[in-house]
Amino acid sequence: MIEVDGAMLEGGGQLLRVAAALSAVTSTPIRVVNIRAKRPNPGLRAQHLSAMQAVARLVNAKTKGLALGSREIEFEPGPIEAKNIEVDVGTAGSTSLILQAMMPAMVFAQSPLTAVLKGGTNNPMAPPVDFLERVLLPTLRGIGASASLELVRRGFYPRGQGILRVSTNPATTLSSITLEDFGDIERVSGLAYSSRLPEHVANRMISSAKSHLLRAGFRDPEIDREILQPSDARCAVDPGCGIILTAELSSKGIISGDALGAPGKPAEKVGEEAAQTLTRQLESCAPVDKHLGDQLVIWMALAEGTSVIRVSELTLHTLTCVRLVEDLIGVRFKVEGERGKPAMIRCKGAGLRNKTL
Ligand code: ATP
Repeated sequence: MIEVDGAMLEGGGQLLRVAAALSAVTSTPIRVVNIRAKRPNPGLRAQHLSAMQAVARLVNAKTKGLALGSREIEFEPGPIEAKNIEVDVGTAGSTSLILQAMMPAMVFAQSPLTAVLKGGTNNPMAPPVDFLERVLLPTLRGIGASASLELVRRGFYPRGQGILRVSTNPATTLSSITLEDFGDIERVSGLAYSSRLPEHVANRMISSAKSHLLRAGFRDPEIDREILQPSDARCAVDPGCGIILTAELSSKGIISGDALGAPGKPAEKVGEEAAQTLTRQLESCAPVDKHLGDQLVIWMALAEGTSVIRVSELTLHTLTCVRLVEDLIGVRFKVEGERGKPAMIRCKGAGLRNKTL
């Protein structure tokens, strides 16, 4: 059993999810200690617990310590079994982060799978579902990790109750990722979304994002609107709003900037924040988004051959994932760059093969 120190570097929930995902696909038993030790509320919270339970179901894992508040768990995976899974976090805990833990095992299963995930779809400090749709999943499709996503209902804090349906196709192996060159910006687009709020909220987020983008020299960004009211099936049970902007590059990179609304936060501020995040990252001329950077590390490690990515910002989340993956499956990364700055990340992947196909 390999011991993972959950207090290492970032010391948050991502360490646990990535460790569980790697354990599941490589059949490596793990013990994770000091879970989320660097967070003010350490231990398993609803989202982390649901993620661990979901991965455990996919691989029939024997587990110890899977309970709310637990700071230490053991996870002994069995073979990945084809199972459609429903997960209900029961809170607004992020469904995107649950998928982060489940997706590698889903892709290395023997048949197409569907997971229905209930909880938050747009949370602070987590990938909005729109990031999965517009940035993560298109990038992963490029290496053979194929998943499609249906947003059945949005879910915001406090009650969540959003629903995502994710379907995966099995992969035999994954091909390497090369996202090194920036190329040209081919298209800037986005989506402003709101549930149970007046129409002007989405319109104001859009106008403010557009005026920032125009000032930064981007002509005609196409920003769609999704304004949901209780009569719409996709409308969240609690009010909420946000915006995501993306720049698609000729090199196939996709850079994003997003922001969430909050009570008392002007819609204009939300639009501006998203636009600033996007334009700042574009200035780095790197083709990989700062959040995508940490989320690609596990896939680079599992793929065949050498993957190379240049990230717009080297984050502590990324460095944490690199260290964890090196410790758990022995692949080696080369990271050139400083934290907080653009960086180049290379890895010769383990070339994991799907033994069930
Ligand atoms: P904790 O409560 O312990 O912080 P957590 O489970 O919420 O834990 P983190 O360890 O902080 O998770 O990991 C958050 C993940 O969400 C990272 O993969 C990060 O890249 C991603 N993320 C955060 N904000 C965004 C965003 N705006 N867009 C895309 N991804 C995001």
